[in-house]
Parts: sequence; C-alpha cells; structure tokens
Amino acid sequence: MDLIALPAFADNLIWMLHDGHQAIVVDPGAAAPVSNALAARGLRLAAILVTHHHADHVGGLAELAPLLDGPVYGPAHEAMPVAVQPLSEGMRFALPGAQVEVLDVPGHTAGHIAYVVTAPGQAPWLFCGDTLFSGGCGRVFEGTPAQMLHSLDKLAALAGATRVCCAHEYTLSNLRFARTIEPRNEALADYELRCKALRAEGAWTLPSTIATERAVNPFLRVREPDVVASALAHGAASSAPTEVFAALREWKNTF
Ligand SMILES: [Zn+2]
Ligand SMILES: [Zn+2]
Repeated sequence: MDLIALPAFADNLIWMLHDGHQAIVVDPGAAAPVSNALAARGLRLAAILVTHHHADHVGGLAELAPLLDGPVYGPAHEAMPVAVQPLSEGMRFALPGAQVEVLDVPGHTAGHIAYVVTAPGQAPWLFCGDTLFSGGCGRVFEGTPAQMLHSLDKLAALAGATRVCCAHEYTLSNLRFARTIEPRNEALADYELRCKALRAEGAWTLPSTIATERAVNPFLRVREPDVVASALAHGAASSAPTEVFAALREWKNTF
C-alpha cells in the first residue's frame, strides 16, 4: 500500500492509502483534493474513514458519496453528516489489502476514534485525526484533560514503528513549544532540525512514528522530570501526570 498526503485548507492533510487500484481516504474535509487524486491515478474509492465530527474532517463526505464504492466508517458516539458504519474501541474490520483496528481516543471531541491500519509486510499506519500531532496534541474541546492524557497514553503504547498520520501539519509550531518545555532534549533538537529542512523543501514532516513521538512530544512525556519541572514552573497544581498534562495544554493554548 502507498500513502499519499492530500493538502486541504490551510494545514489539513487528507490521507489516502492505495494499492494502485483501490483507495481508502481518511477525514476528507474537502472533496476536490480527493476526487482530483482519484482521477489522476485512476483509483476507485473503496472506503472512507472518519475520526471525529469537525467540519474540516467531514466537509467533503456528501460530495464524495457518488464516487464512493464502499462504506463510510465513523465514530459511533458522534453526529455525522452522512450515514456511517458506527465504530468504537476494539472493533476490527477488513479493507481491500488491509486490516483495521479501532481505538476510542476521547478528549479533543467526546467520541473521537483512531484507526490502526495494517497491511502484510508493512509498518502499521495510525490515523489519529486531531488527537496526536507530531510534537503536540489537539486542544481538549469536549473531553477532560484526564481523558485526553489517557487517549494519548494509549497511542504512545502502540508499536514504535507505527507511522503517525495526523490530520494537520502543525509540527514546527509544536516543536517550538516542545523546545521551551525540554531545552535539554537532544532528540527533540535533532528532530526539529530535520523537520525544518523538510518544510524548507516544501515536504511534509508527516507521517511521524510512535517511537519519534515518545522521544520528542512533551504531551507523551508528562512523567519525564524535565517536563514535570517545566509544568510546575508554569502553574501545574502537582507533579501528577494529569496535572502536568493540563498545565502544558493550557500553556500551549496561549503560547
Ligand atoms: Zn478537530
Ligand atoms: Zn482538524
């Protein structure tokens, strides 16, 4: 399977997995990038996966319906603009050439789900919507900090080689914040240099990997002493992971 990132709006990435014949797309907030990519490559749209209800993730669904030769999968516990196959934690299903497992990852929205897609002989892909970003995480709009941290911990426990396909290219701005939290983290400094070089060439920093995120992402590192110290210096009520996470998330909102 090949992975393609289709840019939409200011910084969304609509992910497309295809085998040269059939394509699966994730979170089509707009239809045109998807229909153009299908036409350019002569692909059939076999399924759509949706992570959560925000317009920049579902806005293209109705317009893509005539092109779709298969189901739309989406979260069981959110209102969707089209009929979906409702999914929640632990459900598994097959797509052309791939197997999919569903994770509940509430926090950004109340019913947000993520997809782990595996194909024979390839590292898994994680489609995590607006829950985990490279170097950061989504805002906690509908859930609680404790829920969001639990969701991020669940993603951090996936295999290190898992490719992290986030729905937004926010990496450089996230890493600027991460460097403020952990100025002594060398893996983070190296990663920021690599990402700056990629963006300077006009390339995406994504997908990242779970191993990279464990090493650089402060929201997955809320038990690291340097991260705890930064959070305590910035209003965390205690060194408890949920308090550290909540303080970092608040700080990032105004950074
Ligand atoms: Zn969102
Ligand atoms: Zn979004």
